[in-house]
Amino acid sequence: MSRKGSLIIISGFSGAGKGTVVKALTAAHDNYALSISATTRQPREGEEDGREYFFKTTEEFEELIRRDELYEYAQYVSHYYGTPKAYVQEQREAGRDVILEIEVQGALAAKKKNPEALLLFVTPPSAEELKRRLIARGTESMDVICARLARAKEEAKLMDQYDYLIINDDLNACVEEIHQLVMREHLRMEENLDFVSRIRQELKDMQ
Ligand code: 5GP
Repeated sequence: MSRKGSLIIISGFSGAGKGTVVKALTAAHDNYALSISATTRQPREGEEDGREYFFKTTEEFEELIRRDELYEYAQYVSHYYGTPKAYVQEQREAGRDVILEIEVQGALAAKKKNPEALLLFVTPPSAEELKRRLIARGTESMDVICARLARAKEEAKLMDQYDYLIINDDLNACVEEIHQLVMREHLRMEENLDFVSRIRQELKDMQ
C-alpha cells in the first residue's frame, strides 16, 4: 500500500540534544528522511555545506523567501533559518516520514499549514542540565550561550502547544519513544484515507 509519509517536527532548546536524537533515530530506522535547512549562520567546525545546512548569505536567503521556495522560516539569534519546500514534498510523496528539526516559531507556523504534522518538543530534565550541556558542547562563546538560554526561556512559553513532550535523559529510550509515536501516527484514520476508499470500493464491488 502506498501512503504519504508523515511530517514530524522536532523542536527543543538549543543544547537539548535534538541533533543527536535525530541522528540516532534516522540511523536506527529507514523510514525517515531528514530535511536539510538553509541558514545564514556561519558553519561550525566540521559542518559541511549541503550536509548539516545549506549555508547562505542574507541576500541569497531573502531570494529564497521571495521565490516562495521555503516551507517555513524564522529568525533565531540574529540569523535566518528555513526549510526548503521541494525536498519535504518529494520525500513525503515517496512515502518517507520527513523530519524537520526546527525552532518553535517555524514549527508552529508549519503546524498551522499542516495540522496533521506531529509536533514533538525535546528537553533535558532540567534548566541546569541544559546550561551544562551547552557549556560542555564548547562550540559557542559565553555570549552566544547566554543568548541561547534567553531564547530557551521564550521557547518554553510556547512548548505547551506541542503534541508530545520528550525528555531526553536516556538517548535510546528517547529515540524509541519518538519512533513509537510516529508508528502510531501512521494508524490514524485521516492518514489512511486511500486505504479507506479502496476497501469501500472493494466492498461495493463484492455485491
Ligand atoms: P543551530 O544554529 O544550533 O544549528 O540551530 C539553531 C536553531 O535553529 C535550532 O533550534 C534549530 O532547530 C533551528 N533551525 C534549524 N533549521 C531550521 C529551519 O529550517 N527553520 C526553523 N524555523 N528553525 C530551524
